[in-house]
Amino acid sequence: MRADRRIARVIVDVPSKETDRPFDYEVPDSLLADTEIGSRVKVPFGPRTVMGYVVDLTTAPSASLTRLKAIIDVLDVTPPLTPELVRLAFWLSEVYLCRKITALHAMVPAVLKGRYQRMLRVHPHTPPATALPDAERRLIERIESKQEVPLSQALTWPGVNRTIIRRLIREKRLLLVEHVGDRATLRTVTWVKPALSPDELSRCLADIPTRAVRQRAVLEHFIHHPEEIPLPDLLSRAGTTRSVVGKLVEKGWLTWEEREVYRDPYGEHAFEHKPPLPLTDQQQQALDTILSALNSNKERTILLHGVTGSGKTEVYLQAIDATIRQGKQAIVLVPEISLTPQMVKRFKERFGSDVAVLHSGLSDGERYDEWRKIRSGEVRVAIGARSAIFAPFEQLGLIVIDEEHESSYKQEEQPKYHARDVALWRAREHGATVVLGSATPAVESYFLARTGVYEWVTLPQRVNNRPFPTVDVVDMREELRQGNRSLFSRKLRTSLTQCVERGEQAVLLLNRRGYSTFVLCRDCGEAMTCPHCDISLTYHQTNRTLRCHYCGYATQVPSTCPACSGKHIRYFGTGTQRVEEELARLFPGIRVIRMDVDTTNRKGAHERLLKAFGSGQADVLLGTQMIAKGLDFPRVTLVGVIAADTSLYLPDFRAAERTFQLLMQVSGRAGRHQLPGRVVIQTYNPEHYSVDLAARYEVESFYRQECRLRKQHRYPPFCGLFTVLLTHPDRAALMRSAHQAAIRLQQDQLPGVEVLGPVPAPIPRLKDRYRMQVMVKYNVETDSVTDLMRRLSELEDILDDPRLKWSVDRDGRID
Ligand code: ADP
Ligand code: ZN
Repeated sequence: MRADRRIARVIVDVPSKETDRPFDYEVPDSLLADTEIGSRVKVPFGPRTVMGYVVDLTTAPSASLTRLKAIIDVLDVTPPLTPELVRLAFWLSEVYLCRKITALHAMVPAVLKGRYQRMLRVHPHTPPATALPDAERRLIERIESKQEVPLSQALTWPGVNRTIIRRLIREKRLLLVEHVGDRATLRTVTWVKPALSPDELSRCLADIPTRAVRQRAVLEHFIHHPEEIPLPDLLSRAGTTRSVVGKLVEKGWLTWEEREVYRDPYGEHAFEHKPPLPLTDQQQQALDTILSALNSNKERTILLHGVTGSGKTEVYLQAIDATIRQGKQAIVLVPEISLTPQMVKRFKERFGSDVAVLHSGLSDGERYDEWRKIRSGEVRVAIGARSAIFAPFEQLGLIVIDEEHESSYKQEEQPKYHARDVALWRAREHGATVVLGSATPAVESYFLARTGVYEWVTLPQRVNNRPFPTVDVVDMREELRQGNRSLFSRKLRTSLTQCVERGEQAVLLLNRRGYSTFVLCRDCGEAMTCPHCDISLTYHQTNRTLRCHYCGYATQVPSTCPACSGKHIRYFGTGTQRVEEELARLFPGIRVIRMDVDTTNRKGAHERLLKAFGSGQADVLLGTQMIAKGLDFPRVTLVGVIAADTSLYLPDFRAAERTFQLLMQVSGRAGRHQLPGRVVIQTYNPEHYSVDLAARYEVESFYRQECRLRKQHRYPPFCGLFTVLLTHPDRAALMRSAHQAAIRLQQDQLPGVEVLGPVPAPIPRLKDRYRMQVMVKYNVETDSVTDLMRRLSELEDILDDPRLKWSVDRDGRID
C-alpha cells in the first residue's frame, strides 16, 4: 500500500471563467510513469470527458484524500509541453489577460488541439496469435475485420480493458493511430527486406509454381537487390500487390516493418553544404558581441541594426553555429512573408537536417512532423514565423528575431502576444541571448538600445559596398497642377521607360494598407459599403464584383446607384489591377507580374511568381507590401512607390513609423548588385517627416523626431497601452457596456493611468457587430499596472451581457 498518492493539477479544455484554474485529479498507478508536467490527458469533467494539460504534480497522503476523480488516459508518449512552456502559458495568460487553456493551446501544433479520435488497428506485422488467450485473440480478429476501430468503442467490448490494449500495443500486435478530422497524425511506411540470403531465396524460387508470376517477381527482385526497400517502391518495381508480398512474409521468406516517416516539405530539394563566409570587420564585431553574450550564459538582448544587404543573415548563421557547438539550440523568427525558399535554403545549406521549418504553408501534418523533430531534440535549429517562438527546445541558447519591427510578430487573436516579449521571457528562463535584427528597428527597440537597456551593434554598410540608390520624391499635387492625371508621374514614367529599354527590371509598390479601389456614385456621393461591416467595398476587375475584404461579402457592381438611382458610377482609388491596366496603356507590350492577395492566395503561388520574375519573365513586379522585403533580384534597378502616403492617415500611432519603414525597405530592393539603382517615391505629402527623412536616409533623425513626438503625445515606449475592444450587434447596448467599462477603469484615478474613450473603433462595424474601444495609458514605472490589470480582468463581472464580446490588447514593453 502506498502512503502517498500522486495528484495531477490539470487545466481543462473548457474555456470559461469558472474553469480557468487547475483542477486536481488522481493519477492511477497504471498512468504514473506516463504523467508528467506538460502531458496532455483525458479527464472526466462533470458529465463529460475532456482534454487537459497537466500543469503541476503533487503528492498527498492517501488518508487526506477526499474523493478525487482519476485521469482516464495520457494522450502522448512524450508530453507536448515542457515545464518551462507551462510556466510561459501562465505568464501569457496573466500579462495578456487570456484563459490559461488558450495560452496552452497556442503552444502546441494544431493537430494536438483539434478534435481527435484514437483508432486501433491491427499491427501490420502482428506475431502469430496462437499463444494468446482467447479474449485477446478475438479482440484482434474483431479489429482486423473492421480494419479500424475507435479505441473508445473497443473498450466497451466484453473482456477488453485498457491494460490489455496497452500490452497488445507494446507487443506490436495493435497499433494506435490518432485521427484529426480525416488525417492520421502519424504517417507510416512499410519497409520490406529478405529474411533469407540470396542463395536461399533462389532455392525458394524453385518451390514457387511458374504461374505465380508476381510472387516470383518479388523474390527475383530480392535475389538481385537484397537491401531493404519501402513497400511502395517494391510494388512498382516488381509490378505486384501488397497481398502478394504478404504471402511471402507469411512463408517467412521476407519480413516487413512499419516505420514512422516525417513528411518533409523540402524533401525533394537537395541542399549542398555551404561553409561560413569570411566575415567583414563590421560583421565580425557584431558576431563578437553576440558570442560574448552567448558565453556569458546570461539573458542578454542585442539590437543588430544593419542596413539591408549588410550581411545580418550571415551573422545569424555563425551565431547559431556557435550556439550549437555549445550544445544549445536556436530559434530564428522571420516574418511569414520572408520565409521564402531562398531564406530556408540558406539555413539548410549551413545546417542541413539540423533545421526544422515551421510556416503556415505547411499542412497540419507536416507542421506536426517538423514540431516533433524539435520536441525530440532531433534538430537544434527551428526557423519559423511568429508561433515558432514556442518551439519546445529545452536548452535554448539563442533567439534571433529578424525584421524585428514587423507588425506580424504581434498576434491579433487570443493570446494577443508579441513574439518579442515572449522571446525576452524565454531568454530569462534559459539565460539565453536575443538578437533583434532590422534595418529599421521598431521605435521602441531603438529607444531601448539608445538608452542602454539593449546592447546595440550596427552594420551601416552593405557587404559589397554598393551605394544606396538615389531617391527622388515626386509631389503628385504638382503633377495634377501640371495637368497630369495619370497614376504615374512624368519622372516615374521616364525612369520606367529607360529601365525597360536597358533590359533591366523594376519593382512597383502600391502601399495599400487602408487603401483600395472603391466605387462611388458621382451624382449623390454615395460609396458602396459592405452591408455587414461599414467598410467600403473593393472593386475586383476580373469578375466585376465588389467585395468586402473583411467578411467576404460579394456583390455585382450595380449599374445604377442604390441610393439615388444615378447612372454615373465611378471607381476611385488605386488597386493593383488599376495600376496594371494603366501600365498596359502607357507602356504597350510591357510584361507585368502582379502580386497581391488575389494572385497569391493559392499555395505556392507566391514562390512561383517570384521565380518567374527572377528568371526574367517580366519587366515589372507590381505588388502590395508583400513585395517590399527580402527580395533580392540582381536585375532590379528601379523601385517606384505609387503613393507613399496612403498609410499615413490610419488611426494608428505607428502610422509614421510604418511609412518610414516601408519606404526604407523598398529602397533596399534596388541596386543591390552590380547595376546602380534608383527609387522614385510619389506622394501627396512630400514634406511629411517620415517621407522626407526616408528619402534622405536620415535614419537617426527620423527616430529622434519620432521619439520626441511619442513622448509628447504619450505613446509607447513612453507609456504602456491597453486597448479594450468591445463588440455587440446592438449599438445602444454596446454604448452602455463601453461606458461602464470606461467608468470602472477610471474610478479613483489610479496614479499615472489615463483612460481615453469609449470611441468607435477604427473599423466601427464588422460582420454585423458594432465596435467600440477604450484606450488606457499607464506609466511603465509605477505599480499602478497591477491594479489596472486586476480591474481589466474584473471587467468580466461588470460586463455580463451574453451578446457582448470584448478583449484586451496590450501594447508596449512588458517586464
Ligand atoms: P541582410 O540580411 O543584412 O539583408 P544578407 O545576409 O542577406 O544581408 O547579405 C547580403 C548578401 O551579401 C548576401 O548575398 C550574402 O550572401 C552576402 N554576404 C553576406 N556576408 C558576406 C561576407 N562576409 N562575404 C561575402 N558575401 C557576404
Ligand atoms: Zn463585410
